[in-house]
Amino acid sequence: MSIAENLFEIKSSLPKDVTLIAVTKTHPPEKLMEVYDAGHRIFGENKVQEMVDKYEALPKDIQWHLIGHLQTNKVKYIAPFVSLIHSVDSLKLLQEINKQALKNNRIIDCLLQIYIANEETKFGLSFEEAEALISSEQLKDLKNIKVTGFMGMASNTDDQEQIRREFRSLKSFFTKHSPFLTFNFSLLTLSMGMSSDYSIAIEEGSNMIRVGSAIFGKRDV
Ligand SMILES: *Cc1c(COP(=O)(O)O)cnc(C)c1O
Repeated sequence: MSIAENLFEIKSSLPKDVTLIAVTKTHPPEKLMEVYDAGHRIFGENKVQEMVDKYEALPKDIQWHLIGHLQTNKVKYIAPFVSLIHSVDSLKLLQEINKQALKNNRIIDCLLQIYIANEETKFGLSFEEAEALISSEQLKDLKNIKVTGFMGMASNTDDQEQIRREFRSLKSFFTKHSPFLTFNFSLLTLSMGMSSDYSIAIEEGSNMIRVGSAIFGKRDV
């Protein structure tokens, strides 16, 4: 099937309240344009430089989501245009995003990345660290960011029940914190699910999925 056909098939299967992020990492601009021409406007990249290059090369009505690990010294490159950062994993990073957002006269929406997988390699905050960040006094000083949700990645395993349990744990953390609204903290988005596990993620309460290979085919790198 073509890229456009893959996109339509996935989109038509999604509940209305689930937002699809087309994960475009490693793919060249021509391939992104196939998705763009099919009417899709929300793209996810995991590397800053690649996202900046594609932002410059492609139409300006695309919404760019950063989904990969972000170093504080690189925030300045994406602050002028990024629409959502999924991968905030420290107060220090949030403070830098706030600083760069202020410079650009913007408010940048952020998700806290929470570590739910049973693996050593995944980035993110533990539930305890996230609790501490959410209740910290320093968060209240940040006028140019808004924490609008959480992101999580399940373990890379064939054990569907484990994946389900991991997603469920993040959904329950999300539900627990949803009533607590402040000017810069308002939980709307639960970003969980990739090509291999987005159906389970949606069943467990995800409302934003990040899908690459199921649209574009397998990546070479
Ligand atoms: C690459 C990536 C995805 C998409 O992965 P696929 O398996 O290709 O759908 C989702 N989220 C993050 C954080 C990624 O880096």
